[in-house]
Amino acid sequence: MINKYARKLAAKLAPDPEAFLAALEAGKSAQPSVLWLRDGDEHPFAALPPAPWQPDFVEAMAQGERPGRHALHNEGAYYCLDLSSVFEASALCGLPTGGTVVDVCAAPGGKAIFAYRALAPQRLIANEVIGKRLGPLTGNLRRCGVAAETRCADPSKLAEELSGLASVVLVDAPCSGQSLLARGQDNPGAFHPVNVNSCANRQKRILAESVRLLAPGGFLLYSTCTYAREENEDVIAWLLARFPELTVQELPTHAAHRSPHADFPCYRLWPDAGYGAGGFVALLQSPISAP
Ligand code: SAM
Repeated sequence: MINKYARKLAAKLAPDPEAFLAALEAGKSAQPSVLWLRDGDEHPFAALPPAPWQPDFVEAMAQGERPGRHALHNEGAYYCLDLSSVFEASALCGLPTGGTVVDVCAAPGGKAIFAYRALAPQRLIANEVIGKRLGPLTGNLRRCGVAAETRCADPSKLAEELSGLASVVLVDAPCSGQSLLARGQDNPGAFHPVNVNSCANRQKRILAESVRLLAPGGFLLYSTCTYAREENEDVIAWLLARFPELTVQELPTHAAHRSPHADFPCYRLWPDAGYGAGGFVALLQSPISAP
């Protein structure tokens, strides 16, 4: 629902406030894409021209394609995800391969599967703190043939178990989910400041634990599917103040989407940009040698 809080956010942050609010109102910004897991499969779908940040193992579906209903889906040839999730996960492309990847907030599995395809990790740990979300996660990993260990742990417990081991950590954080509206889904309270602030506090707690997972020189990917500055740029600013040894990475492929709302590199996708419902991503690195 477009309320005064959504309008306020639009006026403060959106490059084209009217187009943003129209996209929320229309609820038609979802842009399905498929992440191909194996080489050699036929690609039976009509695809859109790729975005600059899109890896070659992802195809954005042309209108009318229904990849979720094709037999190849059940065979685990690909995973379906919104193109905005690809925008976020594509920050991983080009990072060193073969290390240990920990996905702290993994269910239902899209980012973990992307990391498996992009980084060919030696060890992939997919964690989901909410027990009932573990089933869909393990089901998707199994269907897609992704070799991963799963955990159901609070980030603090995960950090105790795996401290300093990860070459890459993913925090695709639980958030207010404002972009659900742009996908035509209901999400009452998504723009309410109390909800946004409570999500931001949870994101900070998760990140503070997740930093402990990083090996020297390791990378931390932070992403959300929401537009609130408090859950995006402000969370990263907080993280940099708390852990000044972290550096934020430039993503040249994402340059057209650099956020003007921070003095460090981080990237926003809006639902009126034509690449899905929108989201936010920042990539950080821990120092090569411990401070
Ligand atoms: N990365 C997933 C993907 O690409 O399919 C989506 C992750 S979703 C945006 C956020 C996840 O964080 C949810 O599965 C949610 O259950 C989990 N979560 C909720 N509270 C959490 C907490 N306190 N610590 C860690 N994860 C949490």
